[in-house]
Amino acid sequence: RAKAEGRGLARGFEPEMDLALRERRALQQDLATAISRNEMFLHWMPQANTQTGEIVGFEALLRWKHPTRGVVSPAVFIPVAEGTAAIVPIGEWVLRRACQDAAGWIKPGKVAVNLSPVQFQHGDIVELVHGILVETGLPAPRLELEITEGVLLDNLSSALHTLRRLKALGVQIAMDDFGTGYSSLSYLQSFPFDRIKIDASFIRQLSTSPQAKAIVRAVVALGESLNMPITAEGVETLEQRAFLAELNCEEIQGYLVGRPSPVVSFDGSMTRARAFASR
Ligand code: C2E
Ligand code: MG
Ligand code: MG
Ligand code: MG
Repeated sequence: RAKAEGRGLARGFEPEMDLALRERRALQQDLATAISRNEMFLHWMPQANTQTGEIVGFEALLRWKHPTRGVVSPAVFIPVAEGTAAIVPIGEWVLRRACQDAAGWIKPGKVAVNLSPVQFQHGDIVELVHGILVETGLPAPRLELEITEGVLLDNLSSALHTLRRLKALGVQIAMDDFGTGYSSLSYLQSFPFDRIKIDASFIRQLSTSPQAKAIVRAVVALGESLNMPITAEGVETLEQRAFLAELNCEEIQGYLVGRPSPVVSFDGSMTRARAFASR
C-alpha cells in the first residue's frame, strides 16, 4: 500500500516539480540577457531621520521589466540569479548605476545598495567597489552596502576579511533584515557594522504584539550601546513612527516616508516634517 501511495505521490508531484524547474530555467535564461537588453532598472526608496522627517538617503531596489511577464519582483528573480553566474554582472550593474545616479543628486545623501552573498564569493567585490567609486566620483562615505547574514554564513573569516577591506575604502556597511536569521548577535560581536536595519516583520507587529515591541526596544538599545545606529524598515504608520521616535531609533524607511519610485526627490522632507510635527 505504501508503495502504491508513494507512486501516486510521485505521479502527482512530478509534473509540478517539472513546471517549477522549467519555470526557473526559463527565468535563468532570460536573466542572462536582461542587462544587455536594457530590461533592468532601479527604484529608489527614501530613508528619513525619525525625529525631523528629513530625507537623508535612498535605497536602490532592483526591478526587472521582463519582455512578456511584465515587472518581476526582486524577491523572485534575485534568488534565481543567485543560482547562476547572472547575479555577478547584475550586481555590478546595480552598484555602478546606483553610484552614477547618486553622484548627480542635488543633495549629497546616502545611497544604500544591497549586496548578494554570491558577490562575496565571485570576483573581488572590494576591487569592484573601489573601481566604481573612482569611476563615478562618488565619495566613499556616501555609499552604504547592505548585507544580510547570508554573507557571513558560508565562510565567516573570509567574509569578515572582505568586510574590513570594504570598510577601509571608507564605505558604510549595514546589516540588513536584522532579527530574522539565526545567530545575528554573534555577528554584531565579530564586526563593527555602521548600521543595523531592523526587519520590517517586527515593525509590522508593533501594534499587535507586545513581544515585537520588546524586541524593537531591545534592538534599538543594543544598537545604541554598540554605537551602531538603527534604521527601522517597513514603517507605514504614524503610530509606528512615534514609537520609534520615542526610542531614539535614528532612521526610518517605509511607505510612510515614501514608496519605491523611479525618481529621487528630497522634497518630501518639509511636508513630511510638518506631518510628523502636527500629530
Ligand atoms: P530589502 O533590502 O529588505 O528591501 C526592502 C523591501 O521591502 C523592498 O522590497 C521594499 O519595497 C519593501 N518595503 C520597504 N518598506 C515597506 C513598507 O513600508 N511596506 C511594504 N509593504 N513593503 C516595504 P523589494 O523592492 O521587493 O525588494 C525585496 C528584496 O529584494 C530586498 O529586500 C532585497 O533583499 C532584494 N533586492 C532588491 N534589490 C536588490 C539588488 O539590487 N541586489 C540584491 N542582491 N538584492 C536586491
Ligand atoms: Mg536592503
Ligand atoms: Mg531589509
Ligand atoms: Mg530583505
